[in-house]
Amino acid sequence: MFPFPINLLTLRQFFKKPDLTAEEAEALLESKREKIANPANSEEFVLSRVGRELYEAFYLGYTLKQWGIHPRDLAPSVCGRIPVRLNTDERYVDHKYQVTPADGFTEMFRKMIDNPNIELRLGLDYKEIRQQIKPEVLTIYTGPVDEYFDYKLGRLPWRSLHFEFKEEALEFAQPCVQINYSNDFDYTRTVEIKHVTQQKHPYTVISYEYPRAEGDPYYPIPRDVNKQLYDEYKLLADTETKENNVYFCGRLAEYKYFNTDEVLERALNTFNLIKERYEHK
Ligand SMILES: Cc1cc2nc3c(=O)[nH]c(=O)nc-3n(C[C@H](O)[C@H](O)[C@H](O)COP(=O)(O)OP(=O)(O)OC[C@H]3O[C@@H](n4cnc5c(N)ncnc54)[C@H](O)[C@@H]3O)c2cc1C
Repeated sequence: MFPFPINLLTLRQFFKKPDLTAEEAEALLESKREKIANPANSEEFVLSRVGRELYEAFYLGYTLKQWGIHPRDLAPSVCGRIPVRLNTDERYVDHKYQVTPADGFTEMFRKMIDNPNIELRLGLDYKEIRQQIKPEVLTIYTGPVDEYFDYKLGRLPWRSLHFEFKEEALEFAQPCVQINYSNDFDYTRTVEIKHVTQQKHPYTVISYEYPRAEGDPYYPIPRDVNKQLYDEYKLLADTETKENNVYFCGRLAEYKYFNTDEVLERALNTFNLIKERYEHK
C-alpha cells in the first residue's frame, strides 16, 4: 500500500529510498519525466510529470477502469487535477481549510430549506410537472442539460458507478478512508466513510465502487467530442436563460465535474448574477 496522491512518502517507498529528501526527489522525478512540452492528453500529462513507472503503477489501470477509456483519449485535466507533492502532505487537495459541516450535509441542507417560503416536493421528475409550475420570476434547473432539451442534439455520455456496501464486525476495516486499487479487482476503490464522520461504533461499512457506463449520471466524460456537444447545448441553454429565465447550474446542467466546494461557489455565483440582473430591473 502506498500513500496517494504521490508525495515524498510515496516516492521513498516506491523507489526504496527511505531517506530521500525533497531536493533529491525533485532530481529523481526530473530523471524519470518524459520530455513532452505541451501534453495533449492525460497520458502525456502524467508521463511529463512523473514518468512511466509511476504512471503505470498509479494512473493507467485506475483510469482505464474508472473511465473505460485510455488516458491518451482523455483531456490532460482528468489526471492533472491530482496533485504531486514533494512534501509529506498526504491529503487529497491543497486547500487551506478542509472541513465537513459539523452535523453533516443532510443537516446543513435541512436548515437551508427550513423556511415557510420553500415548498419541497421530492421524487418527482421535473419534466412531468413542468407544465404545472408557473415561475413568478425564474427557474434554476439542476438536471442534465441534454434531458432538458429532450436530447434533441444527441445524448451526452456519463460515467456511473455501482456501489456495493459490506458490513464488518470491526471498529475499522481499513487504515484510511479510501484505498484505490489501480491494478487489481473490478472495483476502483473501497471507501470507509467512518474515518471522516468519526462515529464510535463496533461495526463499520465499506463501499466497493464498480464503474459503469449505465446508471445514474455521475461524471461527465472529459473528451473533446463531448465538449463540442455540450457547447451546442450551452447555446440552447443561454437562449433559454434569455427568453424564459431558466438558469442552468451544477454538474448535470453544465456537464462539468465540480467538487462540493466548487459547486457551492458556482451556486453562489449564479445567485449573485441573478440578484444583479433583478436589482437592475
Ligand atoms: C460518486 C461521487 C463521489 C463524489 N465525491 C466527492 C468528494 O469526495 N468530494 C467532493 O468535494 N465532491 C465529490 N463529488 C462531487 C459532488 O457530489 C458534486 O459536486 C455535487 O453533488 C454537485 O452538486 P449539484 O447540485 O451540481 O448536483 P447534484 O448534487 O447531483 O444535484 C442535482 C439535483 O437535481 C436533481 N435532478 C436531476 N434531474 C432531475 C429531474 N429531471 N427532475 C427533478 N430533479 C432532478 C437530482 O435528483 C439532484 O438532487 C462526488 C460526486 C460523485 C458522483
